[in-house]
Amino acid sequence: MAGTGVFAEIIDEEVFKYYSEGEWMKSSSGKSVAIINPTTRKTQYKVQACTKEEVNKVMGNAKGAQKEWAKTPLWKRAELLHKAAAILKEHKDPIAECLVKEIAKPAKDAISEVVRSGDLVSYCAEEGVRILGEGKFLTADSFPGHERNKYCLVSKIPLGVVLAIPPFNYPVNLAVSKIAPALIAGNSLVLKPPTQGAVACLHMVHCFHLAGFPKGLIGCITGKGSEIGDFLTMHPGVKCISFTGGDTGIAISKKAGMIPLQMELGGKDACIVLEDADLDQVAPNIVKGGFSYSGQRCTAVKVVLVMDCIADALVEKMKASIAKLTVGPPEDDCDITPVVTESSANYIEELVVDARKKGATFCQEYRRESNLIWPLLLDNVRPDMRIAWEEPFGPVLPVIRINSVEEGIHHCNASNFGLQGCVFTKDIDKAILISDAMETGTVQINSAPARGPDHFPFQGLRDSGIGSQGITNSINMMTKVKSTVINLPTPSYTMG
Ligand code: NAP
Repeated sequence: MAGTGVFAEIIDEEVFKYYSEGEWMKSSSGKSVAIINPTTRKTQYKVQACTKEEVNKVMGNAKGAQKEWAKTPLWKRAELLHKAAAILKEHKDPIAECLVKEIAKPAKDAISEVVRSGDLVSYCAEEGVRILGEGKFLTADSFPGHERNKYCLVSKIPLGVVLAIPPFNYPVNLAVSKIAPALIAGNSLVLKPPTQGAVACLHMVHCFHLAGFPKGLIGCITGKGSEIGDFLTMHPGVKCISFTGGDTGIAISKKAGMIPLQMELGGKDACIVLEDADLDQVAPNIVKGGFSYSGQRCTAVKVVLVMDCIADALVEKMKASIAKLTVGPPEDDCDITPVVTESSANYIEELVVDARKKGATFCQEYRRESNLIWPLLLDNVRPDMRIAWEEPFGPVLPVIRINSVEEGIHHCNASNFGLQGCVFTKDIDKAILISDAMETGTVQINSAPARGPDHFPFQGLRDSGIGSQGITNSINMMTKVKSTVINLPTPSYTMG
């Protein structure tokens, strides 16, 4: 159970503590933030509402601890990360339970998220040792007009305090995808978990605590993003922000100072289906891509662009796949579970109402009970409908019928988002040309968009993000290049 066993020290009087100076603390605010269980709509947990003074303290400690940590040998940093990964995996059950209760993640997926997170931390430790342990060596005579009288040693140095802000949908995985690269690169780390998902994150942080990282190196501040977020992101102590979420990231990027930003934002991943695609394979693949975790994935298929001549057949097969999805509570490991908040459910409903008003074909009856929305395929969606462009982040998938590949590519590229896209066809040459034409960070050929494996580069164009991630890219992004130049005596110098 959450907050018991080795996790008993992270909770007091039913409120989970925040993490500062290597200890679990109660906020002096005396206030807490409620975490509402999306299934029961009742308060499941409470976390501390941290104050600005507490943020200052955490930042100050992180700055101090980072100096020593940067001098800690790489192999020792890696050793601690491996230890944290093992502890995380050992305690996958209570952490997964938090994911089920806080964000209604289906039980099996919740376990997978924790295990995958442990694997990510371990891989990051290994990759860090490899790529941070080597640099570059240049000689001056490789540039015109220069003698061989200067050697340049190029290495990678840490940035300082990294601020990590993950979203609700993969709170543990997307927190460690920031924490592990930051730490292996010699940075310290301040985490602001999402409110829904905060308790799973606090358990995860405790695994790092148990691994024995130096005091103050890791801090975790809880509270509502709308209240504490600006103070954190504009804090002068922060030297890098790694953020994953929605439009909030665009606002942060406008406010943040002159520091590196890693922004992983929303998506409207388009799926183009050509005439020659194997529809028996395509239909279940799109349904899985569109409806896993109730569509609350940045890389969920969010619009299907299908050639008109095969659209009827594809829609029929997708309807058959959708009919097999189970709907219900996350504890029963249902495919479709309640969406994270009531306001998310209301937003999804707005898009559905708009599509109905403008003449979309409903392939199933629209059904909602509280936060639970039954899977819905909307056919004959047109560009004047909001669902054609906006990210519902729920179990509603629009189908737009197209008459040419160019029409599909045009729709994909006209979106404000540019995260991933996919194309289904047996013609691999055509698929590669379409991939080149789709302006998205990744294009999947013959499979729905997906994040991972976690060492693959992952990035979004336009409003979908800044920079690239994936383990290697994240480590590099959280370092700066440093040159040390050795000036040798002039060529006239004799060694005697
Ligand atoms: P969100 O509302 O933008 O929140 C993300 C994080 O920002 C949360 O931790 C939130 O804390 C915090 N926050 C809120 N206001 C803030 C502020 N003013 N300053 C700093 N932080 C603030 O996103 P979400 O609803 O959790 O996640 C869904 C979105 O994430 C979708 O758009 C999805 O596509 C995107 N996403 C993108 C990727 C990717 O890799 N590209 C991956 C996953 C998800 P509180 O919870 O306390 O408000």
